[in-house]
Amino acid sequence: MARADRSLLPQVALTATALDRRAELRGDDGLLPRLLADPATRVVRLRGDALAVEERDGDLRLALGPPEPDDASRFAVYLGEAGGVAHVGVVANAPGEEDASLRTLRQVGAHLDDVGAALFATTLALANWHRTHPFCPRCGTQTVPAQSGWVRRCPRDDSEHYPRTDVAVIMAVVDDADRLLLAQNSGFRRGGMSVLAGFVEPGETLAAAVAREVDEEVGVAVTEVRYRGDQPWPFPSSLMVGFTARATTTSITLRDGEIAAARWFGRDELVSAVADGSVVVPGRVSIARRLIELWFGGPLEAPEAALR
Ligand SMILES: [Zn+2]
Repeated sequence: MARADRSLLPQVALTATALDRRAELRGDDGLLPRLLADPATRVVRLRGDALAVEERDGDLRLALGPPEPDDASRFAVYLGEAGGVAHVGVVANAPGEEDASLRTLRQVGAHLDDVGAALFATTLALANWHRTHPFCPRCGTQTVPAQSGWVRRCPRDDSEHYPRTDVAVIMAVVDDADRLLLAQNSGFRRGGMSVLAGFVEPGETLAAAVAREVDEEVGVAVTEVRYRGDQPWPFPSSLMVGFTARATTTSITLRDGEIAAARWFGRDELVSAVADGSVVVPGRVSIARRLIELWFGGPLEAPEAALR
C-alpha cells in the first residue's frame, strides 16, 4: 500500500480514493429517492460553488447532515459510500447571508480529510457539468439526468452523454543550473506566479502537449518530460496531469498574450521574493504548488493567497 516511488508527488490534495463510488448501484432509478428519504444518508449540499464546513478538534471537515424534505426536488447525484454510509450530493439554492460556514474547494481542499475532499471535488465537478451541458449535442433537445446523476439522456433520440473531463498538463521546467521557470498568467493578480500549464489538444500525447505549451508560451525547448502525479481540478472540469521537464534552452520569449511575465528562479531568489510579497505562489491545494515544492526540496513558507 505505502508507495515508495520517490519520483511521484506524495499526498496531492483531492486525490485520495477513500470514497467507494459503488458505480454498480447507479442504474437503479429508485436509489436517489430512497436515499433522500433515509435519515441515515449523508447529504453534501452544494450552495453556489461552496459547502458548509465545521472545525472539530482542530480539524476541518464537511458539515454533512441528513436529507431535508426539499432535497427530493433538487438536483442530486449518488456519490457512493464512505465508512459504510451512503452519500448524496445535492445542488441547493445559492448561498444566503446566514451561511457563514460556507467555503470553496480552493479555500479548504488542502485542509479537509480525504473523504471530505473527494466528496467536495466530485460533487462540484458533476454539478458544473450538469449546469453547462443541458442540451443534446445531436438534436438540441433538453436532456435529463440518468444513472443517479452520472449520465444525461436525450428523451428524443435516447442518446447518452457522459460527464466530460478536460485534460491539462502542468509542468515544472528546470534548467541545467537547477533554476525553476515560473510565469505570470495574464489573468493572475499582480505578482502571482506559477508553473506553466495548458490543455491537451485532440490527437496529442501528454508529453507532446508539455513540449508544445512550453514552446508556445515562453519559447523554451524541453526534454526529459516525466510524469509526477495528477489531480482532479473541478474549476470547472479539469484533470491536471503533473510533469517535470528539463529545459534545453533558457532564453524566454513571450509568444502569445496568455503569459504576462516569465523568469527563472533559484531557490534563494524564490524564498526572498515570496517573503517580500513580490511573488505570490499557488495555494497548497494545487498540484502546481506541489510541483514547485518538489523542485524546492520541501515545503515553501508562503501566505495562502488566491492567484486570480
Ligand atoms: Zn437528442
